[in-house]
Amino acid sequence: MNVTTARVKNVLTRASGYLRPVCSHSLQPYRGCGFGRALCGVGCYVRHNTWLTRGEEWGSFLEVRENAAEAYAGAVDRERAWARRSRGAFTIFLSSSTDPFPPHEARFGVTRRVLEAMLVSPPDELIVQTHSPAVAGALDLLVPLRTRAGARVRVHLSIESDRDRLEGLPPPAATVDARLAAAAACRAAGLPTVVTVSPLLPIADPERFFARIGEVADAVVLDHYVGGDGSRNGARTERTGLPAAIAAVEVAALDLAYRDRMVEVARRHLPRVGVSAEGFAGRFL
Ligand code: SF4
Repeated sequence: MNVTTARVKNVLTRASGYLRPVCSHSLQPYRGCGFGRALCGVGCYVRHNTWLTRGEEWGSFLEVRENAAEAYAGAVDRERAWARRSRGAFTIFLSSSTDPFPPHEARFGVTRRVLEAMLVSPPDELIVQTHSPAVAGALDLLVPLRTRAGARVRVHLSIESDRDRLEGLPPPAATVDARLAAAAACRAAGLPTVVTVSPLLPIADPERFFARIGEVADAVVLDHYVGGDGSRNGARTERTGLPAAIAAVEVAALDLAYRDRMVEVARRHLPRVGVSAEGFAGRFL
């Protein structure tokens, strides 16, 4: 992977499209993703964003936004005022086109410095969206952001299935067990914790999977790539190897009706079950 550093003028992006009902802003500490060549990178909708990839193959590059914390501090008062005026609340989604806790975070600490800046000048709400168990290593910042600075902090752990592998596709960013353990740690620390099954992949044992999620999380959100990848009828994902890999395991899982069946199973195990963008927004919480 080609890792470079960059300084950005603006790190708070006003939300539009799929994210509009979810948050007022997204924040990307990195451009590109440290997990771009993992399982989730295969169908990742960001790989089609030519403005972000700039001609490079998804997963082959990572731009470290080394001044992200300073850029946040410089813009936060203006963006908070805009968000409260036009969106009702200043809600940050960390992150929508990268993962805030790639392996490189241990070396560069960009996300940690952003969280430190948020402790000084907090958003109204922070949604941390990650595939990485390393989020548990940031609890020393996330917990005081909630308890001391007063932000509504919520952790979303992405776990798309109970399967660690799909035939022919690369391994996941982290095992299912490791991500469930990280969710448990976040919840035990007092942070509202949501497992996001997104994009939903074929589940080997749905009853057991959602029961396990119910043991470690406050809620679950299910999202199918059809209607969930920001394109009409999942057209973006159809251009990737993901649908064929799903069909090889369970062809019925290609259909939105599969999501609805899984929602029914999830409701037997968790009191709070969200679906698609409304779920990510936490409207069901
Ligand atoms: S962690 Fe998120 S942004 Fe990164 S490749 Fe996976 S789905 Fe895409």
